[in-house]
Amino acid sequence: MATSAAPAAEVPHLIAAELVTEVCSIYVLRPGDILELAATEGLRPEAVGRTRLRVGEGIVGLVAATGQPLNLPDAQNHPRFAYRPETGEEKYASMLAVPVRRAGRTLGVLAVQNRAPRRYDQDEVEVLETVAMLLAEKLATVAPGDSAEAGVAGTVARRFTGSVIVPGIAIGPVVRHDLAAAPRRMLADDPEQELLRFAAAVDTMQRGLDELIADRLPDGEGPREVLAAYRLVAADAGWLRRIEDAIRGGLSAEAAVHRVGGELRDRMRRIVDPYLRERLADIEDMIGRLLRALDGEAPSAPVPAGAILLARRIGPAELLDWQARGIAALVIEDGSAAGHAAIVARALDLPTLGGARGVLEAAENGEEGLLDADEELFVLRPAPELCAAYQRELAARRERHAHWTLLRHRPATTADGSRVSLMLNVGLPLELPQLDATGADGIGLFRTEIAMLARGALSDVAEQQQVYARVLDAAAGRPVLFRTLDLGGDKLLPGSAPPAEENPAMGWRSLRVALDRPAVLRRQARALLLAANGRELSIMFPMVATVAEFQTARAVVLAEAARIRPAPAHLRIGTMLEVPALLWELDALLRHAAFVSVGTNDLLQFVFAADRSTPALARRYDVLAPAMLALLARLAARAAAAGVPLSVCGEAAGRPLEAMTLAGLGITTLSMAAGALPAVKAALAALDLPEFRSVLATLRRSADDTASLREPIGAWAREHGLPV
Ligand code: PEP
Ligand code: MG
Repeated sequence: MATSAAPAAEVPHLIAAELVTEVCSIYVLRPGDILELAATEGLRPEAVGRTRLRVGEGIVGLVAATGQPLNLPDAQNHPRFAYRPETGEEKYASMLAVPVRRAGRTLGVLAVQNRAPRRYDQDEVEVLETVAMLLAEKLATVAPGDSAEAGVAGTVARRFTGSVIVPGIAIGPVVRHDLAAAPRRMLADDPEQELLRFAAAVDTMQRGLDELIADRLPDGEGPREVLAAYRLVAADAGWLRRIEDAIRGGLSAEAAVHRVGGELRDRMRRIVDPYLRERLADIEDMIGRLLRALDGEAPSAPVPAGAILLARRIGPAELLDWQARGIAALVIEDGSAAGHAAIVARALDLPTLGGARGVLEAAENGEEGLLDADEELFVLRPAPELCAAYQRELAARRERHAHWTLLRHRPATTADGSRVSLMLNVGLPLELPQLDATGADGIGLFRTEIAMLARGALSDVAEQQQVYARVLDAAAGRPVLFRTLDLGGDKLLPGSAPPAEENPAMGWRSLRVALDRPAVLRRQARALLLAANGRELSIMFPMVATVAEFQTARAVVLAEAARIRPAPAHLRIGTMLEVPALLWELDALLRHAAFVSVGTNDLLQFVFAADRSTPALARRYDVLAPAMLALLARLAARAAAAGVPLSVCGEAAGRPLEAMTLAGLGITTLSMAAGALPAVKAALAALDLPEFRSVLATLRRSADDTASLREPIGAWAREHGLPV
């Protein structure tokens, strides 16, 4: 659910006058699904900001949870009435409460009350619903530019939306990551001397990178790969030589770095390809690094506690520097989830928002910032009440973390003792220690393309073998499902971009590329078989659209397997299920596939014909929609009947409400990002699975005109004390 700012205090007064009610109150949704009394006419003013109800709690909470109005002549005797003495509401008998919703999301509740018991008539209900609609516009998060709102006295809060790269919340002073200033000395008399200075600076930069890797990330294979690619960019562009030429032409070393860097930057800015554009950040990173090396100083001063770094673009090495200086979160104007900085941010578990345009221009160093990456929101100069709400949420999260630590070594079970299997989605060897840290049952999805994206090139057989062997070593007998390369779409290697496609998500990507270029698949299969070195091996293919495709890919792997010794103890070849067409070939699929893993990220976009990376469609279609639930329930039943293991490895598996629903449908092997596992484990540990199964069945039967079962399932979960 979205969180919102404070509404204007005069609104309840105007509504109460219009509807002739004694009370009118606005409750606003705060982080952690808390409804807070934000403004009132008629209740005690001191209750504003203090009275809080969980979604699902009390009448107001019930209205938020169900999204339906309640019209009650005798509210106090309603079974869900929750008395809050600080409000002074005991005097009021009747109550009309309507949800404040926008784009399918609940933002709050609007309620009126009267002393006399009465049922509000239809006109009154309609007026209140209309006002709620207008209020929703005000409460909704709005785009940058037109997003000013009253904040701390004398300042104006600004909200920026973006896209989540690493989820999490942070509150703290902002620190700007400014690009290098123009050099003061432009010309030099002695080019030879400048060339020596430059050579020393390059040397310092290279040594600095090595130290960065060695000191900051002892087991940092991922960033190591990223930084290797980063060096490649420098060599590839031949820019060091061009800088030397500029120095020979009479520029100072600083001015030459600045000028050549600027030229490269301009050229790259005109490039549309997202992957190459990402290299722009690497280059800016290097310009800054070289200039600092020439200047002889390294930025190492710690930043204030909890600082949020704001950057237009940032390279991976620079991000590691800032992390060592103590930043707690990152907001990037130009970053994408596939960029190098994103890979490093994820490895560091640093809450990060990308695509927050205009943020740098608006912010001064030291101003307060509030990042809610989960809600894809950054607020500059937030109002104190908003900060207070987030501080409470942060405290609650810390408490939950403490509870999760206790759960870590317990096997994942539901409250009634059913065993569930919680696995990790992994993309970089750097993440392998998370297996033991989370107590996961294995790796349910190893995305083999991520390390290559980080490296910027396809790896050869030996390099791949080394990575896969490390994965199997770390898993120490726990199952690992290796997914073959899923490149194309939004995951492009430099130089490999196919001709521009209208719909890359549905284009020449993933297994389609592998089937047309079987040598790449063969080499990958060989690397996997060699890495297994006689151990058990599970391989699956992404984006399979037909059983024939699956069989062709499987034959490629089997042909390799026939040649490699020692053969794996057990070779299991399964598939991802991401393309709906496969659902109409289930019998054949379940005969041939050793296991099936559902990629709900892609499946959802193809079932609803809604591009997963289009921000305007984010959250529009829900994995908890009746259609998806019907599809998954049928799939679970068919796989169980055929005795074929079924798991879900899309993002949905890592969200507690979705995870319990999947378990309720009979899918009890779930694979997710490491950061998501503890919360899912805690929610499932509190779930009575048989009871929930029958509740879910009832809800699905009565879901005729419901776009999503999220709210009723959430209300049931909260009512039963589940941490969702
Ligand atoms: C998916 O589509 O759900 C999935 C797990 O694959 P990816 O997110 O890597 O496309
Ligand atoms: Mg996918």
